[in-house]
Amino acid sequence: MVWERGVVIKTTEEVEIMRQAGRINALALDTVRKMVRPGITTAALDAAAEDVIRSHQAVPTFKGYPGPYPYPATLTVSINDELVHGIPGKRELKDGDVVSVDCGTTFNGFIGDSAFSMGVGEISPEAQKLLDVTEKSLYEGIKQMRTGKRIGDISAAIQKHVEKYGYNVPREYSGHGVGRQMHEAPQVPNYGRSGRGLVLQPGMTLAIEPMVLMGTYRTRVLPDQWTVISADGALTAHHEHTIAVTEGDPYILTTL
Ligand code: MG
Ligand code: MG
Repeated sequence: MVWERGVVIKTTEEVEIMRQAGRINALALDTVRKMVRPGITTAALDAAAEDVIRSHQAVPTFKGYPGPYPYPATLTVSINDELVHGIPGKRELKDGDVVSVDCGTTFNGFIGDSAFSMGVGEISPEAQKLLDVTEKSLYEGIKQMRTGKRIGDISAAIQKHVEKYGYNVPREYSGHGVGRQMHEAPQVPNYGRSGRGLVLQPGMTLAIEPMVLMGTYRTRVLPDQWTVISADGALTAHHEHTIAVTEGDPYILTTL
């Protein structure tokens, strides 16, 4: 059912298919998480995630995704100052890196989209703090996902938590509706004002994804035309889940 401003409301059955897609996506990310260590290539992580997804009769959503050119991989793997959309390849993870892994899975026509950041080997206390704050800000946003609340309540909760620690959120990259398409209405910015925007109702499925920069909110895109980095070279992190709005508590679809 298409509702206000192009938002697609899912039936309970459709939400359960998204839950299955989300679980497979979580399995792929869990596999990757366990492989992260100094010396492993980002291509090896990508291959493992694709194996998990395909072995569950599902399809990597990102592969071939339209952009400056079709996205070439299953994962985006973004390291340190790379905020999002890093392309896997021969690069090896190093001790002390912060790596952000994003993955999408399409199963029976529906998509689960989620991401995590973690340290490689031993990381600095400052980097650990960034990871903790970013993850917590995701849950601050999710807490707002209740029937009758508004998109701006999610945005404001994320921004408030992030800025409390002196970090920033990008202005050009947002969370989003997700379902049969990876990017559906509405956009869910990581900054905004509470009480503004679309009212949440049961059957809305959103990817909430705080992206956090230790420095300013400015970003730029590398010559590969996909990888987004912090303009000042500061460390970044990214956490994401796909969540359904229900009559009650928010229903996180992209967990194991
Ligand atoms: Mg994602
Ligand atoms: Mg997303």
